[in-house]
Formats: sequence, structure tokens, C-alpha cells
Amino acid sequence: MLKVEHIGIAVKDIEESNKLFSKLFDKEPYKLEEVASEAVKTSFFRMGESKIELLEATNESSPIAKFIAKKGEGIHHIAYEVKDIIAEMKRLAAEGFTLLNEVPKKGADNKLVCFLHPKSTNGVLIELCQEIV
Ligand code: ZN
Repeated sequence: MLKVEHIGIAVKDIEESNKLFSKLFDKEPYKLEEVASEAVKTSFFRMGESKIELLEATNESSPIAKFIAKKGEGIHHIAYEVKDIIAEMKRLAAEGFTLLNEVPKKGADNKLVCFLHPKSTNGVLIELCQEIV
């Protein structure tokens, strides 16, 4: 894995949270994007080499809605950039980690992504991501 690409934070109201985090970081999000397949609205703030991603559910069956119902707002996942997501998925599966998708999915911010089940990673939801070029 190359670096922490972003940290995902689950929020109830992304417009309110965009204002809050804009104040906190003293900058605006550089991107707002809806990912229909994941039922989320996202925004991204650039923080040097890494980013902060805010996520709001767009319906009740969104993974973000389920997360907030269970745990409340807060840190949802840590995303690591990888060079070759397919090779990394194979490596991690062989090491015994549980992958939540068998093939990379199209995620937000022009990325191919794969999630690892938090049960196999000390309770931390991990996202692998590779930029689509
Ligand atoms: Zn993410």
C-alpha cells in the first residue's frame, strides 16, 4: 500500500457538514459527487497528500445509513492507495483478509475500490483504491 489516500467520515447532513469542515479546515471541498451504486453523496477536502471524504446516505439501505444507525456519525473508513488493486486484492485474500467485493468497484473521485471486512482488520473498515487512468 502506498499511502493513506483519504479518511471517510459518515455524516447525517453533508451540506451542514461541508460548512462545518470548511470552517475547521479553512478551505472548501474541491469536489461534490453522488455515487448512486453506493447510495451516498460525498465531498472531498484536500489535505496535503491525503483527503478527507464526507459521506451522507441517500437512502435507508445505504451502508452509511446503517453505519450511522449503529454507531452514529464519525470515522467510517480509511482508504489506502494501491498501485495494482487486483494484485493487492489477491495478496490480501491469500493472507486471510475478507474482501467485501470480489472485483473492484467504481468508487467516488475516479477510483477503483475494494473494501475489507472490519472483522478481519481489528474493527477498521479499509478501502483499497486505485486511480483510474
Ligand atoms: Zn472512501
